[in-house]
Amino acid sequence: MRILSRFLMAATDASQFPAPALPEVAFLGRSNVGKSSVINALVGKKLAKTSSIPGRTRSINFFELRWPGKPQPELIFTDLPGYGYAQLSREISSRWPDFIEPYLKERPCLALCLVLVDVNVPAQPSDIQLLEFLCGIERPFVVLGTKSDRLSANQLRNALESLGQELPQAQILPFSARTGAGREELWRQIREATDAHRGKRKPERVEAPVK
Ligand code: GDP
Repeated sequence: MRILSRFLMAATDASQFPAPALPEVAFLGRSNVGKSSVINALVGKKLAKTSSIPGRTRSINFFELRWPGKPQPELIFTDLPGYGYAQLSREISSRWPDFIEPYLKERPCLALCLVLVDVNVPAQPSDIQLLEFLCGIERPFVVLGTKSDRLSANQLRNALESLGQELPQAQILPFSARTGAGREELWRQIREATDAHRGKRKPERVEAPVK
């Protein structure tokens, strides 16, 4: 099954957020972690622009997703600005645009945060602080270990173990936009979180949409 997706809008201020309606899945991570590639791999087309393209990088970009044959869109992906390599505590309060924190704290339809970390490098203080922030505000999150194709199976196991020690509060899912590894499991988690958010009974078996 294909997924129909389209760019809805870019918000640079909380007053511009669309009225909350569908469940939203937020994508967060340091610049260059592979965020655009994950979004594009999930929807099967170049929906999110890479961070090298200026303009949309300091905004929250809203994308609407619909399943073919269904008249209504099902969920929204939100692409949040990549954060830098500096400490997030300061960024969250000052250098990160000030509409990010209200989005994460107050958005009623935010069903799941996907926090992307590169499995090839140790967790950074900014990643740890973001997870502590999400824990503090009780937002459900999953950590994606991106670019898993760059490691052998052994190296990946070790990398996941180290990341697990650095981020003890996290469930870490390895993912490769290049090979598609982890895509089906990620879709399963997204469907589970958005269904739970809608208050639906969980389906017995969730199919990942196929490209
Ligand atoms: P963003 O800045 O977080 O949106 O990151 P991009 O999606 O633009 O990716 C940053 C760089 O990492 C690009 O050069 C991508 O080709 C590379 N990259 C992204 N995902 C993968 C992956 O799964 N495997 C590998 N090997 N490289 C990746």
